[in-house]
Amino acid sequence: MIIAVDGPTASGKGTIARALAEHYGLPHLDTGLLYRAVGRQALISDFDPDSPVEALCACGFHDKLLEDPELRSEETGGLASRVSIHPGVRQALFERQRAFALQDGGAVLDGRDIGTVIVPEEADAKLFVTASAAARASRRFREMQENGVDTTLEEITEQIEARDKRDQEREDSPLKPAPDAYVLDTTLMKKEEAFANAIRAVERALKGEN
Ligand code: C5P
Repeated sequence: MIIAVDGPTASGKGTIARALAEHYGLPHLDTGLLYRAVGRQALISDFDPDSPVEALCACGFHDKLLEDPELRSEETGGLASRVSIHPGVRQALFERQRAFALQDGGAVLDGRDIGTVIVPEEADAKLFVTASAAARASRRFREMQENGVDTTLEEITEQIEARDKRDQEREDSPLKPAPDAYVLDTTLMKKEEAFANAIRAVERALKGEN
């Protein structure tokens, strides 16, 4: 079974994807990490993330980079959304994501274009997890405070809005729900409720009801 979980930053899609993977006993790929690795590699190599050629060179990152804790930072998230605009970068990461999705037994992938570009035909269930920008900013702010990061809610809100804009307005694979995706708005939901809704949506999709 292949489950595609897409949505904007800090919507809860990663948590939901991990929980679904555990529930169904499937491997999980956080595809944002691949784009973050490209952004981080560009920074390390002093490449320009806005140059299609230099960003493409950063796609040759070593797999060890995927374990770098810096990948989780908001700075790397911003770099990831800049390099992910380039069609060459998206193409370079395409096969890796598709192979993961199509492995025997299935998989759960979360990202921005899993249901629309990576496995539009093959996904058995597609979720688009979203929440208001204010809810996402305050969740991310709380998370950062817990991790001791010195920032403000205003700064996080600005970063989230800038990232949404870039992800939604890019020409190649913009962030948008697949026509057959179940849209799960988690603005007013606690984690448990969001997860219960996600399971119900997957079960309905498996019966062809979504
Ligand atoms: O999901 P995450 O916040 O880690 O993703 C970082 C950035 O990588 C996103 O803002 C987006 O620009 C890009 N991305 C993408 N396609 C994906 C996953 C992430 O363009 N499938």
